[in-house]
Amino acid sequence: MARLVVIALGGNAISPSGGSGSAAEQTRNLWSSMGQVAGLVAEGVDVVLTHGNGPQVGAILIKNEMARDVVPAVPLDWCVANTQATIGFVAATALEHHLRVRGVDRPVVPLVSRVRVDDDDPAFAEPTKPVGPWFTAEEAEDRAATDGHVYGPQGDRGWRRLVPSPRPRESLDLPAIRLLRDQGAIVIANGGGGIPMARRGDRLEGIEAVIDKDLGAALLAHELDADGLVVLTDVRGVAVDFGTPDEHWLGRVTLSEMRAHADDGQFRAGSMGPKVDAVCRFVAASDAPASIGALDEAAAVVHGEAGTRVVPDDRPDG
Ligand code: ADP
Ligand code: MG
Repeated sequence: MARLVVIALGGNAISPSGGSGSAAEQTRNLWSSMGQVAGLVAEGVDVVLTHGNGPQVGAILIKNEMARDVVPAVPLDWCVANTQATIGFVAATALEHHLRVRGVDRPVVPLVSRVRVDDDDPAFAEPTKPVGPWFTAEEAEDRAATDGHVYGPQGDRGWRRLVPSPRPRESLDLPAIRLLRDQGAIVIANGGGGIPMARRGDRLEGIEAVIDKDLGAALLAHELDADGLVVLTDVRGVAVDFGTPDEHWLGRVTLSEMRAHADDGQFRAGSMGPKVDAVCRFVAASDAPASIGALDEAAAVVHGEAGTRVVPDDRPDG
């Protein structure tokens, strides 16, 4: 069997913060990154793709806000499903094209996919993940009284809605992912961390939460028994003393070294923090390497020639 690598594409890298966020811009970025993924597949790397959706869900929440008196707001689980569909169909179209150009005839299947979280996850008691538009303190209090959502101050720019970000526990569509892979398909799954679902009695229900896509990718890679996890984003890797004159980009580090940097408070919650947490969890659980690097260097990152690679302690050359 070819080496299986789970590749996670960053939502910010697909829709850069300085950009327009237009469909055309996201399509351009996806076509270019899928060209690189196709190159990997053509050289024999077996790939499962997943992707972030932070900026894309943010855009839907802004529309929710502006249209709130006209059409019902879309709940968060629906937002995740929406973005899996849009990012998924564009990525699948681009990847199939780039594969065909390289003489590889394989179907690419973007899967609307669900991930189970625990009903009693501590994240539900204390929502921490800021989403959607910014409000003044008065606006936020007003809204909290009418919509029952939680809002919190976020630095100088104002207040934002805070939602729970529970730990992903189980990829509910894993059997379908396996079936599709067995039939030769390249699968795009668990986009945006997966649609969050919880068990309520004998049923599963979509819930108002967002799963961190990096943790979702690490779970999927472990469940698929992947040989590697690669998280692609809009920076070249992981830096210590990031943004300071002492900034130093990490190349190859062992799991213990990376955990020591994390314990040292090097990585910010909400950006590099969850990526480092995710790759460390995967390396520990699967005893295989994981990398973080730039989307536009995807192939080199997968080959360990660019980005930051975390390796098991007993295999510093892995
Ligand atoms: P994605 O959409 O790919 O998940 P994020 O914005 O969540 O992207 O995370 C990537 C960002 O993390 C980078 O753009 C960078 O500004 C920021 N970052 C924070 N701390 C670090 C660090 N220690 N090293 C590298 N990047 C960092
Ligand atoms: Mg992120």
